[in-house]
Amino acid sequence: MRILLTNDDGIQSKGIVVLAEYLSEKYEVFVVAPDTERSGTGHSITIHVPLWMKKVFIKEGIVAYATTGTPADCVKLGYNVVMKRNVDLVISGINKGPNLGMDILYSGTVSGALEGAMLGIPSLAVSSASFDAPDFEGAARFLVEFLEEFDFSLLEPFTALNINIPTGEIKGWKITRQSKRRWNDFFEERVSPFGERYYWMTGEVLEDDEREDVDYKVVREGYVSVTPISPFLTNERCYVVLKEVYPGCTG
Ligand code: MN
Repeated sequence: MRILLTNDDGIQSKGIVVLAEYLSEKYEVFVVAPDTERSGTGHSITIHVPLWMKKVFIKEGIVAYATTGTPADCVKLGYNVVMKRNVDLVISGINKGPNLGMDILYSGTVSGALEGAMLGIPSLAVSSASFDAPDFEGAARFLVEFLEEFDFSLLEPFTALNINIPTGEIKGWKITRQSKRRWNDFFEERVSPFGERYYWMTGEVLEDDEREDVDYKVVREGYVSVTPISPFLTNERCYVVLKEVYPGCTG
């Protein structure tokens, strides 16, 4: 199996290096990842400046390139240029910190996997769900087992899995829904040495989802959360309601 590995923390981050080493024991691994951290860049792509790609060394037997692009750029480059459109699986991670609820729209890690799904390739976004004390070794060990166990033929086309792995003892894994977990933003106002005001975003997390099978609750209970996600943002229920009310409006 030929695996394309990317991330948003940068090619030198521990999460991607550990995962590349674990995967290379069993699979052909091609790493194409940003040269510096691109967390929070979502699904952005580079179209106004060229993309540079430099061969780097991770370990004997692993092909690896650092690029000046975003995670989505890296998957496009990896698929088209490095692996010549011969990719069996895309993995994005292991991210330092969780990717839960609405955060996945900002996440470069998740967008790397969604880019793979858009290319028609089974894809995984993988995060260690602790920002302060991530466990990349534990997450990598889990993922290697998960790859053996999971039946990828069950995935619809254009579907990725968003996987969040708790630290400490892992009780098992559960299929979940993306939660409503989101942020109430605050802006700290500060003043520069030149008397100009600037703002620093902080906030508090809102975890008020009433459903049981949602990503953050399952992770908190010590299970790995596995959420099937897709790039399609149409709200199907609302579509049905609106279509009924406005069956043939031509304006
Ligand atoms: Mn990140």
